[in-house]
Amino acid sequence: MDTAAWQRCIDFHGHSCPGLAIGFKAVKALEQQMGPVCENDEDLVCVTENDACGVDAIQVLTGCSLGKGNLLYRERGKMAFSFFNRTTGHNLRMVFKLPVSRKDVGREELQQMILHAASDELFQFGQPGFSIPEKARIFDSLTCEQCGENAVEHLIRLHEGKKICLDCFEGYSRGW
Ligand SMILES: [Zn+2]
Ligand SMILES: [Zn+2]
Repeated sequence: MDTAAWQRCIDFHGHSCPGLAIGFKAVKALEQQMGPVCENDEDLVCVTENDACGVDAIQVLTGCSLGKGNLLYRERGKMAFSFFNRTTGHNLRMVFKLPVSRKDVGREELQQMILHAASDELFQFGQPGFSIPEKARIFDSLTCEQCGENAVEHLIRLHEGKKICLDCFEGYSRGW
């Protein structure tokens, strides 16, 4: 067990928890299958299907981040992570396969169990059924004709002939 790496995850995330352990083990499984992760390698892209604790471990250990554009959120509510290596073309999707809330096991016990389990006991491996967008696209911005804020053009909608942002778009359903 790489305790120094685990500690870096805890420092970033703010606490240790079973979810963080899942992300930690996901990176270990990635390294077993696709070779050592070189931190801040922008050719490695992670697509996460959840926004839970484990993503923090992945950010710390791989350097994949929202700001760099190599951490993408594909909201599915699944404890699944996919990794794409733009250089080698290797792709890997892994899905955590243990029931996440186990009433028969305490939180600390579950965390230890995850940290010490073999990768194939924790994850089911396969190929992602989707591809990732091309690298670093720069989008033009347009000004919303209602609120006056600028937004990238692919997130501007047309409403009664006016260009408007998603916040102003009539019929938006989810608060934000
Ligand atoms: Zn947590
Ligand atoms: Zn607007």
